[in-house]
Amino acid sequence: MNSATRIIEPGQIEAPAGQIPFLRLADTDVFKQRAERLRHLSQQHSFGPYLGFLATLAQAQHDALKHFPPVPLPSPEQQAVCREHGMPVLGAQAWHRDPAWRAGLKKILRSMLATALPAPASAAVERLMKLSDAELEEIANKLLAGDLDTVGAQDMPFVAAALQVYWTHMAGAMGEHAFGKLEQGGLCPVCGSHPVAGIVRIGGAQQGLRYLSCSLCATEWHMVRIKCSSCESTRGIHYYALEGSNGAIKAESCDECNAYLKLLYMEKDTQVDPVADDLASLALDVLMDETGKTRGGPNLFFHPGIS
Ligand SMILES: [Zn+2]
Ligand SMILES: [Zn+2]
Repeated sequence: MNSATRIIEPGQIEAPAGQIPFLRLADTDVFKQRAERLRHLSQQHSFGPYLGFLATLAQAQHDALKHFPPVPLPSPEQQAVCREHGMPVLGAQAWHRDPAWRAGLKKILRSMLATALPAPASAAVERLMKLSDAELEEIANKLLAGDLDTVGAQDMPFVAAALQVYWTHMAGAMGEHAFGKLEQGGLCPVCGSHPVAGIVRIGGAQQGLRYLSCSLCATEWHMVRIKCSSCESTRGIHYYALEGSNGAIKAESCDECNAYLKLLYMEKDTQVDPVADDLASLALDVLMDETGKTRGGPNLFFHPGIS
């Protein structure tokens, strides 16, 4: 039986702000590493088949990212205006998407068709292949607006995968210098999306620092610890873990806004991946739901209608 373990963490002395790398754009191998992690986590897991399917999807994302064509990016003037107003340069909803994201989607769908897919997934792939450009854009609009429950549960992982590849590609093509801090510290400085989870990192200047990981573009940005990523309150912060766990995953909850976000601790497991480990620890979401807390950010591979 899982039950809550409430853990109060000691305060952490952090390096002065100027020495902390604020932004970490996704590594070019981010989806490959995620695929490996998902494959690993799928073994002897109650959601094994789904995690295994997502491993294949992440591999298809990797292949699509590797061959992504050059796409239009915000001009230096547009970038300057965004930075000046504390707006994300590649805003998930504001940015005018290039059709290349749909070409990326088609590529991902074709790779998935070449694998052994469960019947509902292959039906979804066939259906998505036949949708018009306008219909695909409509699904993307809903997904990027956070209206996940209006997106078909079978369509969501594929469309989300393609949008992640497109945004990750753009962020990488622009480079870290293009992005500034936003007014809201809990939103991705690149695309303005909510984080999927946080990571407490190890090594060098990042030792013991907490980075939030974007649910869309996989960018990580620094946020001090023991602070709510949703409302930035530093009061009423609590930590929950599943009993018997190795402590690599905890939920950080906030009494002020009632949100929680998972934190992954690299010192307990160096291989953690925010998307993969979040999905593999849904039991902790069930526990948090029982305490009346709601997630502070989505996982684009977990449809809110499935529980
Ligand atoms: Zn982002
Ligand atoms: Zn809060």
